[in-house]
Amino acid sequence: MRGKMPCKPAYDFGGRGVYTILIKVNASAFIEVGKLGRFKFSGLYSYTGSALGMGSSSLNGRVSRHLGLRSQKRLRWHIDYLLENPLVRVEGVITSISETKSKECQISKNIFNLAGSPPPVRKFGATDCSCESHLARLKGNPDRAVPTIVEAHIRAGLKPITVPNSRFPESAVSL
Ligand SMILES: [Zn+2]
Repeated sequence: MRGKMPCKPAYDFGGRGVYTILIKVNASAFIEVGKLGRFKFSGLYSYTGSALGMGSSSLNGRVSRHLGLRSQKRLRWHIDYLLENPLVRVEGVITSISETKSKECQISKNIFNLAGSPPPVRKFGATDCSCESHLARLKGNPDRAVPTIVEAHIRAGLKPITVPNSRFPESAVSL
C-alpha cells in the first residue's frame, strides 16, 4: 500500500451542462442569502444552475465545489449560503449535458410547473435572467422529488443523470 485509499472514488459529474441540486433543510432555519436577505427554510428544495465552461466552470468542477469537495474561499453564489449551513444536506444531484444556458431557466420553470409551489426566495440564483427564481420548494421526500426533477430536465429536451448522495465521496455526505 502506497498511501491511503479513499473510501469511495471521486465521482465525475461531467463536462458542460446544467444541474439541479436537491437539498434538505433538516429543521427550520433562518439563513442569510447574501444581498437577498434572511429567509426561513425548512424541508426540500431544488436549485438549478449551469456550468458551461471548462475546469472549475465545468459540471464536475462546479458540482464538486457545491458539494464541498473543492476548497471554497468565499461565498459567491446564493446557493453557497445554503450549502455552508450545517442544517442543509445534499440529497442528490441531477445533471444533463448541454451547451445551452437557457436550459437552466427552462428546467427551473418546469420544476415550478410540476411542483406547483411559488418561489420561496425571489431572484435566488436568477440575477442574470428573467426568471423569478432558480430555487424551488418541493413537497414530500427525496424519493418523490427526484422523479419530478428528472421530468423537468426531460421536458427541457435533455437526458438527465441522477446521482444520489450515496455515490458522492465520503466528505460530501456530511454536508
Ligand atoms: Zn433563469
